[in-house]
Amino acid sequence: MRNTIYLDYNATTPCDPEVVDAMLPYFRDNFGNASSQSHSYGWLASDALEKSSFVIANALNVSPNQIIYTSGATESINTILKGVFNHKLNKKNHIITVETEHKAVLDVCQNLEKKGARITYLKVDKNGIISLDELKKKINSNTLMVAIMFANNETGVLQPIESISEICKKHSSLFFSDATQALGKISLGSFFSLVDFACFSSHKIYGPKGMGMIFIKKTDEINWESFVQGGGQQRKLRGGTYNIPGIVGFSKAIELNLNQIEKFANKTEKLRNYMEELLLKIEGAKVNSRGFDRLPNTLNVSFSHVDGEQLLNVLGQHIAVSNGSACNSASINPSHVLSAMGIESSRALASMRISLGKHNTLNDTKKAVNHIVKSVEKVRNNNILWKKNNPIIVRE
Ligand code: PLP
Repeated sequence: MRNTIYLDYNATTPCDPEVVDAMLPYFRDNFGNASSQSHSYGWLASDALEKSSFVIANALNVSPNQIIYTSGATESINTILKGVFNHKLNKKNHIITVETEHKAVLDVCQNLEKKGARITYLKVDKNGIISLDELKKKINSNTLMVAIMFANNETGVLQPIESISEICKKHSSLFFSDATQALGKISLGSFFSLVDFACFSSHKIYGPKGMGMIFIKKTDEINWESFVQGGGQQRKLRGGTYNIPGIVGFSKAIELNLNQIEKFANKTEKLRNYMEELLLKIEGAKVNSRGFDRLPNTLNVSFSHVDGEQLLNVLGQHIAVSNGSACNSASINPSHVLSAMGIESSRALASMRISLGKHNTLNDTKKAVNHIVKSVEKVRNNNILWKKNNPIIVRE
């Protein structure tokens, strides 16, 4: 287990030790409920909540009032889509999203279709990018919301959110962007001025699991019925006792990682490009979304004449990568993202997502490339359609 090189940082990240240290007192000594306002246990908890919200708001350049804490990006997505839809159903019922969104968005949209929503699923080109012209054609006065992610979790490709935002504003449609994979990997710049809603997840940026966040631009205009009712916490938008250790941990993770974003982005990009160059020397290898605006840490590569399942089984003993999104890893269907990009099933099945993190070293990448080269060769040898060629070996 310990010898396995971890290259699956888009699936999840280890908690930073400083994050764990910041959280620990709130499990043990300062375990109070932030809503208990009649004693010091509660005051300490609400003080931690306030300070953490201040740190997060400051780092993201938003107001603490624009933040709602949740259990993760999946809950945030459910809250935003269902909340807005249920609230506005009598006025507008059209939602536009994209075929390559995370399953959380696609599954919620499917569910809303049963409740009267009209959903348009935009197609993407072979690099995973939407067509702005298609968006302009599909958006209309009945379009309640456009839900388009910032960075794709499988290919890392970025959508043109500035132009999308402009189109939404012109049509008075709300814009929700899932920025779960962008946070901590690229600078968010003017992101918050472009969107009405966004979601984030702590375990993707070296924070604790089970912790997420919604950004709501105009909180004072939101009076939808809470998705999680009970207690009236978070301005009645999400009931339940505050997860103080989680909030403290998320805030520490944001503070630590957003401060060093350029350093981590440069480091992972160099390692990613190094791996990419070498993997492309394997005959029949293709890097998906290469040459387009992408997350610096993500590399999605597919191979011809390779059984994807066999490849991951062989590789799994040495390196931790994924084929598609972690949430889908039990399925033997090709990734819906790669399929939407027009990649044929056999190649989509023989694809892997390598996502690097701040702990990876050059030596990790060299070892990983060698494992991949050897494994592709091994699996291909079982394929009668494959003619053997010289493999490349990297000196470690
Ligand atoms: N959205 C994107 C783009 C993701 O990559 C993920 C996680 O895989 C999610 C949403 C769901 O996040 P969580 O695990 O916090 O529910």
